[in-house]
Amino acid sequence: MIIIPLGVASATPTATRHLPSVALWREGSICLFDCGENTQMRMLQAGLKRSRVDYIFISHFDVDHYSGLIGLLSTLQLQRRDKPITLVGPKGLKEYVEWNFNFAKVELLYEVNYVEVEEDFEGGRVVDADEFYVDARPLKHTTFCLGYRFQEKDKPGKVDAARAESLGVTEDWQYKELKAGNDIELDDGTVVESSDIVGHPRPGDSFAYITDTSYSPNAVKLAMNTNILLHEATFSESLSDKAAETGHSTSIDAARVANEAQTKLLVISHFSARYTNPFVLLREARRDFFPAWLATELRPIYTDPSHEKGIIKPKVYIKEIDEKSSGGKPTGRRKESKQKRFRKRKNFKSRESSNFRTPRRRSDDNNYRQRPSENHRRKREPREDDTVRKPRHITPRTPFDDFDRF
Ligand SMILES: [Zn+2]
Repeated sequence: MIIIPLGVASATPTATRHLPSVALWREGSICLFDCGENTQMRMLQAGLKRSRVDYIFISHFDVDHYSGLIGLLSTLQLQRRDKPITLVGPKGLKEYVEWNFNFAKVELLYEVNYVEVEEDFEGGRVVDADEFYVDARPLKHTTFCLGYRFQEKDKPGKVDAARAESLGVTEDWQYKELKAGNDIELDDGTVVESSDIVGHPRPGDSFAYITDTSYSPNAVKLAMNTNILLHEATFSESLSDKAAETGHSTSIDAARVANEAQTKLLVISHFSARYTNPFVLLREARRDFFPAWLATELRPIYTDPSHEKGIIKPKVYIKEIDEKSSGGKPTGRRKESKQKRFRKRKNFKSRESSNFRTPRRRSDDNNYRQRPSENHRRKREPREDDTVRKPRHITPRTPFDDFDRF
């Protein structure tokens, strides 16, 4: 399962942050949680095919959370989609979508299934598919707002192939039966029990999407023991009054939910436009719940990196904004120093003292000789304390750079 934040802004988008939307990729199918403006373009940039969307979950009817819906649905129409799509959200969703397409005199070629939730809803299952289900519960916002939990059903246990072979299991269908939990009888009459060969069922992955809410016990229930909890953190603790007034969470609230729900990873999102540097929110959240991270647009979060790395190939790379690389023509030397910067982070000191640089030293270029020591100073300073890094170092050059941190 892969979670890809497509927009991490709150109500006002900024130059670098788009309106809320999160894609969940699973076995080639995509679920969208909220669909802010720009969602369909962000999907393209993330390398996600729009035709793969099978479910869209809308949390509530604040415009920033559904303003991309009609655009996306109409793109699917232009793509001549023929498989059905399911839209889940508060009551009124169907009316909104149908009114828009009637207004535009468009008749949709594909089937749209609606799951609408009434305002007196107290929680329950909104989608039950073969391999996963989705639960929803009302949250605490100024309007009726839903939180969601996506849960994969348990997967069958691992088959002990060596043991199966030693017992005489050879055919594919036999393995299939055993995996499904059925005992089989071999040609010679011996019975092979499924429990002998197949291990315990493996729990499915889970993801909770909690946005636009003050602290709410329902959020904790939804997020209980999830692999990934994406929780809004619109404000920092210093603006807790404003958070309470507008029905939003602070980063401390997000950490509290993560703590109470014992989630494995907290990802905060939905940042107010006033925070040009959302790392202040992360720092606060991490004080209370350490396995926390910032939702970064287009950067995927994997529940199992070893299985799924590389499946999604982004079309757009997140580049570090670095004043040194802006302006001026790129020269050969600049290229060279970039490569060096990439490799020298750990071993810079030892290379400095070794003969490594000697062959490249040029007598007619003073700048060149000064440069490394300058770089050296600049690089070392922010690393005084290894646990607290400055944002410049965390911002990835590609979306794949920092999986270790998840
Ligand atoms: Zn919002």
